Amino acid sequence: MVKSFAVIGLGRFGSSLATALSKLGYAVLAIDKNEEKIQPIKEYLTHANVGDSTDKEVLKQAGVLSCDVVIVAMGERISASLITTLNLKELGAKYIIAKANHYEQARILEKIGADRIVYPERDSAIRLANQLVSSDILQFIEASPDYMVYEVQAPKEFFDKSLHDLNLRRTHKIVVLAIRRDGTSIIIPETTHSIDKGDELVIIGKTDDLRTFMHAFKLEPRIGTLGHELWHGHVM
Ligand code: ATP
Repeated sequence: MVKSFAVIGLGRFGSSLATALSKLGYAVLAIDKNEEKIQPIKEYLTHANVGDSTDKEVLKQAGVLSCDVVIVAMGERISASLITTLNLKELGAKYIIAKANHYEQARILEKIGADRIVYPERDSAIRLANQLVSSDILQFIEASPDYMVYEVQAPKEFFDKSLHDLNLRRTHKIVVLAIRRDGTSIIIPETTHSIDKGDELVIIGKTDDLRTFMHAFKLEPRIGTLGHELWHGHVM
């Protein structure tokens, strides 16, 4: 499960992302060469480093390599974004997401080995277009800060019990949207479905209720991808 993030470059995108991840309860470290960019969001960061991310030593000393995901959020500074991504790749960063402002930049980032490229402006325009023409509940949920969809490992207390027995809706105010088992998803499972060891649950609820639930069972939160998969037809 994803636990810690490094955000490199605290422009509008990087600082918003770092703050949002921190509010969701994740550890976030950040690097920016400009201390003034760090100050406004310092309270959300587990570690803040002033330095030039094109320098491998800066990356190593900041602790970026122990993070599960590194986001290179320098879109406008193309050379800095490319060199930083290349250095991260050579140093063995686990998963690199790079922000691109231009198509050519995205192509080079991909060739260098970034695991995922994001174009925030294009992506948010596409998302807005989808929201404007759709009444899809999952898109509403994604746009709402009050509700979340999370994926969690089923806690051992749930093994061999049916959804009816667990009655999570009544006891914890959460609803199980899907059970993931052996690579497939059982969407909107019947209440007679039992939970097996190794199952993952896709759950929805108010953000506070989900936090209370996860705290009670010592579960790690992970933002659900079910909505994304449904839109793209990946769910079996
Ligand atoms: P925005 O998210 O605001 O659109 P942007 O894509 O325009 O950002 P830049 O303005 O190029 O990206 O950089 C974002 C941040 O990255 C800035 O705060 C800048 O100080 C920082 N930055 C740029 N180059 C480096 C570098 N080599 N090392 C560390 N930080 C850097």
